[in-house]
Amino acid sequence: MNTTATMAPPTGAKVTTTSADLNPFAIAQRQLDEAAAILKLDKATHEALRWPMRELHVHFPVKMDDGSTRVFHGFRVQYNDARGPNKGGIRFHPDETIDTVRALAAWMTWKTAVVDIPLGGGKGGVICDPKKLSETELERIARAYIGQVARIIGPEKDIPAPDVYTTPQIMAWMMDEYSKIKGYNDFGVITGKPLELGGSAGRGDATARGAVYTVREASKILDINLGKATVAVQGYGNAGYFAAKLMKDMMGSKVIAVTDSRGGIINDNGLDPDQILAHKKKTGSVVGFPGSRPISNDEILELAVDVLCPSALENVITARNAGSIKAKIVAEAANGPTTPEADQILFRNGVFVIPDFLCNAGGVTVSYFECVQNAYNYYWEVEDVHKVLDKKMTSAFHAVYQMSQKHKVHMRTGAYLVAVARVAAAMKLRGWV
Ligand code: GLU
Repeated sequence: MNTTATMAPPTGAKVTTTSADLNPFAIAQRQLDEAAAILKLDKATHEALRWPMRELHVHFPVKMDDGSTRVFHGFRVQYNDARGPNKGGIRFHPDETIDTVRALAAWMTWKTAVVDIPLGGGKGGVICDPKKLSETELERIARAYIGQVARIIGPEKDIPAPDVYTTPQIMAWMMDEYSKIKGYNDFGVITGKPLELGGSAGRGDATARGAVYTVREASKILDINLGKATVAVQGYGNAGYFAAKLMKDMMGSKVIAVTDSRGGIINDNGLDPDQILAHKKKTGSVVGFPGSRPISNDEILELAVDVLCPSALENVITARNAGSIKAKIVAEAANGPTTPEADQILFRNGVFVIPDFLCNAGGVTVSYFECVQNAYNYYWEVEDVHKVLDKKMTSAFHAVYQMSQKHKVHMRTGAYLVAVARVAAAMKLRGWV
């Protein structure tokens, strides 16, 4: 099949792709196109939803520790704010591209809509390799980036948060820089902050906790006893580590394999997520964890486990390996790990995929709680955060499951049908289309 996405934005720029293309934004557009056809969206609404409403490209000099000056390149994409201020993380990654940020911003729009929180979708990124930067260089990059995007962000406009390789400390520097520009403390400009600076209890593990709630709901439908289930986690950052820990601690599952960007480890008798984290902190990787055998990032995806949790980057499950996936549930803690071709293969083979913007929506849901707490300057107990998060994730999961059953489509398309219909309805009510 040679699917072509060629609808041009007003600038005349064109995103043209074939089905083999792994450009994340082309993939995001194709996923939307499928939902738009089922929903019979009118042409204007469909076209408006295929493109970010606004994007800012920034290029800024930063003084490095050795006295030299380097110019960094970054983006902030505001995809759609029909339902509320744009919302989404900032990624620091050497391979960042505008199309990756556009795709991630689109997925944020569907994510906030699927869990029904009053926010839109956005995303930011800086092309840099945090592993090769000192703490002081990271701080200067974070502050300089905010200096550039300050004019388009703010609690009423666009609220960033952490993403791959950005941390609560980086959010603190960013909030501080924005507050200096404004001349007063504006904690609500960014979420995922440290607790001491207006962060929310429960934000640290929220992405993974939300994912675990959806796995729990899926296991009821599939009749899987999570107390006896095996789990493999690809990626051991914030989402991956907490997914492993919470599957073990909350569900009693056995985590048998984990990987990170440098390789992975397996032990059929089970691994201890906290001991692995301690090892990673000491050595820089999960690799070489005592009592484990090595396993690659490709091999982990094909293990015969009950739950596979891709928790790193895009495009890891593709047409090439989807036929070899043996997991019963694929819980996408990462954004964009599965391509559309792979989705079809997994669906045919009966693999139950909990799609990214549903599965990992716990992060932005608790970010929303953080915005609310900042606005009221009143802070919730962690038990309250967990309770409301569970309610949000569980009802989103079942709305998506019911939609997928009704239209006989896989869960990703089901999630698109729920989310796109909500955003389209808001656009219509506002008189945009
Ligand atoms: N970066 C996270 C995501 O992709 C969190 C976004 C947020 O909290 O705004 O969902």
